[in-house]
Amino acid sequence: MVDYACRACNALTIQQVAEYGKLRQVTSDCRLLVQSGELSECTSCGLIQKVVSTRMSRDLMEIYDTYQPYEHDLEPLIFSSDSVGSRSAGIFDEIDSSFSIAKTGQLVDVGCGDGSFLNEFKRRRPDWQIAGFDLNQNRKSDIEEICGEGQFFSGSPGDLPNKLDLIVLNYVIEHVEHVTKFLHTLFEKLSSGGMLVAMVPDLARNPYDLIIADHLSHYTKTTLISQLEELPLMCCRQALQKELIVFVGKGSRNRYRRSTTPEAEQAGAEKQIRYLTKVRTEALDLARTYKGQFGIFGTSIAGSWLSGELGRLPHFFVDEDQRKHDITHYGKKVLSPCAAPTQGVVFLPFTRQVADKIASRLGSVSPARLYVPTGL
Ligand SMILES: [Zn+2]
Repeated sequence: MVDYACRACNALTIQQVAEYGKLRQVTSDCRLLVQSGELSECTSCGLIQKVVSTRMSRDLMEIYDTYQPYEHDLEPLIFSSDSVGSRSAGIFDEIDSSFSIAKTGQLVDVGCGDGSFLNEFKRRRPDWQIAGFDLNQNRKSDIEEICGEGQFFSGSPGDLPNKLDLIVLNYVIEHVEHVTKFLHTLFEKLSSGGMLVAMVPDLARNPYDLIIADHLSHYTKTTLISQLEELPLMCCRQALQKELIVFVGKGSRNRYRRSTTPEAEQAGAEKQIRYLTKVRTEALDLARTYKGQFGIFGTSIAGSWLSGELGRLPHFFVDEDQRKHDITHYGKKVLSPCAAPTQGVVFLPFTRQVADKIASRLGSVSPARLYVPTGL
């Protein structure tokens, strides 16, 4: 048995979490997986992580070889009580509101995918020189169309140009095995006043992050600070609906210290898995016993996972994104909230707080009953 060091604090104190293998997993591009995975937790810093064994490495390669940034090329929308916006627009606003983005500069979007963020950035700051970096080269021509010829990079981050004013990593570092080395390489690419910004899922607000097979680290604010301890971390805060955003600045000082005692917000793996198991049980019971049709709200991670857990039990999907209404998900209908069947029930696979908000926003629109799981 090889001792693995924690990805964040480097201690040899990671322990496997029992029960995780009983949950289905999905890929971050929402494909259901058959095999079960393993999960570990560091007893020193609290980071919940996946050890990249030989088998895991093979599985990851398979996932990325056929990866689609967004199903049907539809970038997720963010729905709230007063607005609907693209995720890229939300991220731009999060960065700009914390540290005003200058009129000109040089940006690289690491993990640029289909270029959604680059497009948004170009629209908002047309005088910047922008480039994309991605391990997957399938979108090279799309990225060059947005950024200009020669502005797509792949391979090693060490080959990126120097003196970059802004490096953005949207939903990237949770996929990276050697995070510390990776971030240090990028940090060296910054100009003297340059900044590196990363957006990552917040496990404390989204337990469903654990079921994403290709997320190797499941950060909370505490463990993210532990991960970035050796870099000048300027700001680490909640962002969007269930994410964390961190800003690392060249020439700055680290304002944060690693927490030696796990804080109350620390989301322990066992508790999170208990929560997911409880949600699954509630959904299965309801789907089996409810007299009308059973639906799942959402076609992204949580909804896809729950669909997999339901197996052959008949169900449909409900999604607020109009673009999805002519499309099937796993061969099942995707309905708008107002088209849900009158005698039906729609299960909201979200934390209590998020599910309550959706239920109060759409309760009067949906003819079907909206069901908020009680969870723990
Ligand atoms: Zn650790």
